[in-house]
Amino acid sequence: MELEPVIGLEIHVQLKTRTKLFCRCEAAFGDPPNTHTCPVCLGLPGALPVLNTKAVELGVRAALAINCTVNRASQFARKNYFYPDLPKGYQISQYDRPLASNGHLDAGEPAVRVRLTRLHLEEDAGKSMHEGFPDSDVRSYLDLNRCGVPLAEIVSEPDIRTPGQAHDFLTHLKTTLQYVDVSDCNMEEGSLRCDANVSLRLPGGPLPGYKVEVKNLNSFRNVQRALEYEIERQGKILRDGGEITRETRLYDADRGLTSSMRSKEEAHDYRYFPEPDLLPLEVTEEQIESIRATIPELFAEKSKRFADRYQLPGYDAAILASSKALADYFEECAVQSGNPKASSNWIMTEMMRELKNRTIDVPAFPISPASLALLIRRIDDGTITGKAAKEVFAILCEGGGDVDGIIKEKGLLQIQDDSAIEAAVAQVIQANPKPAEQYRNGKTATLGFLVGQVMKATGGRANPQKAGELLKRALS
Ligand SMILES: [Zn+2]
Repeated sequence: MELEPVIGLEIHVQLKTRTKLFCRCEAAFGDPPNTHTCPVCLGLPGALPVLNTKAVELGVRAALAINCTVNRASQFARKNYFYPDLPKGYQISQYDRPLASNGHLDAGEPAVRVRLTRLHLEEDAGKSMHEGFPDSDVRSYLDLNRCGVPLAEIVSEPDIRTPGQAHDFLTHLKTTLQYVDVSDCNMEEGSLRCDANVSLRLPGGPLPGYKVEVKNLNSFRNVQRALEYEIERQGKILRDGGEITRETRLYDADRGLTSSMRSKEEAHDYRYFPEPDLLPLEVTEEQIESIRATIPELFAEKSKRFADRYQLPGYDAAILASSKALADYFEECAVQSGNPKASSNWIMTEMMRELKNRTIDVPAFPISPASLALLIRRIDDGTITGKAAKEVFAILCEGGGDVDGIIKEKGLLQIQDDSAIEAAVAQVIQANPKPAEQYRNGKTATLGFLVGQVMKATGGRANPQKAGELLKRALS
């Protein structure tokens, strides 16, 4: 019996505000425990929440970027549950009236549309620390710095059918949220978290009567692995005639499996009710439109435009558009050099390699797009060869000088004079009698080797095409 996975995702992203959602404590990561707390985020009696308008703005921005309808009026609600790192005993979230609803994202190749049920605002809980103390075996410690930090929760419809699609969707969502600059989306620091709901059904049949939630997924790769494991586990139970209960399971990345954590709560277990300390949240049409006007061209449009306008393969265009910083770099270089294809090649090979080796991001890359563009123009106008350009590139990477200065200083001007190349050709033929003989006997593939030797003899400054022509002439 072939079964079809039904997968939905819930993603929490920390919004990039300076302060928390309902108080003026800093929303900073990595500071000493309990240094950013106050009566509001500690849940002391009588302390009243005040809504952070920047968080609302970022929430609206995120919602528009994922094609949601922003609701003019929404409502905060108390979600009641006890947790040691939730001192109030409830979390302020949104329930039946979320900030935004009915969005979608098209991700993957071929693109799959994943509908998004909603995006709502809520506050984060603190953190329990179970390790690293002398008495960790008998005691847990609490850090409440994260208490009250603003989150946007994005919930998808169960439109995903494979673990690979889940991975594609998450990658696309992250890129989109980074493009609009609402979150760092850093999974290691917890500013992007994902839970997955998965169940199995007969292909095309009704939605299954159960769902299993998988938590503790700390990378997109692990989301994919956990789903693969869970699909296999559930498939085996169902094929053996068993039943699956509604539950929450934890993924163990080291062992590559999920294990039961608790039976899953239903919404009514939380006793939601409207938050009495906050007015309903109203967003005007003017506010929504002024935020919409600042949404930049997003990944999907940009990669399509790069492919069309600059005649690049879809794969290259998608990589260049994968972050806004890289896309801006490419476009400036392409326009200034007048050679988009060469710009793409230099960025995708030489520059990407340097970024990786130095573990830096685009803004820290030592060569400006204008310098790289000039280097490309110097190849195109015959001033230097491609080989010499790599030498200039390496020097620029070390932060040394400007393109024309380096060409002059290092004597990298391309040799224009035929007689100088002819001399090198004669020398190479003499030094390599065997390949020369082979070429004369019809093994034309040795020409490449001989051209390489001429390049070497001229310090990479001979025009390779001319070297090839002169070699052919000398050998005929
Ligand atoms: Zn506070």
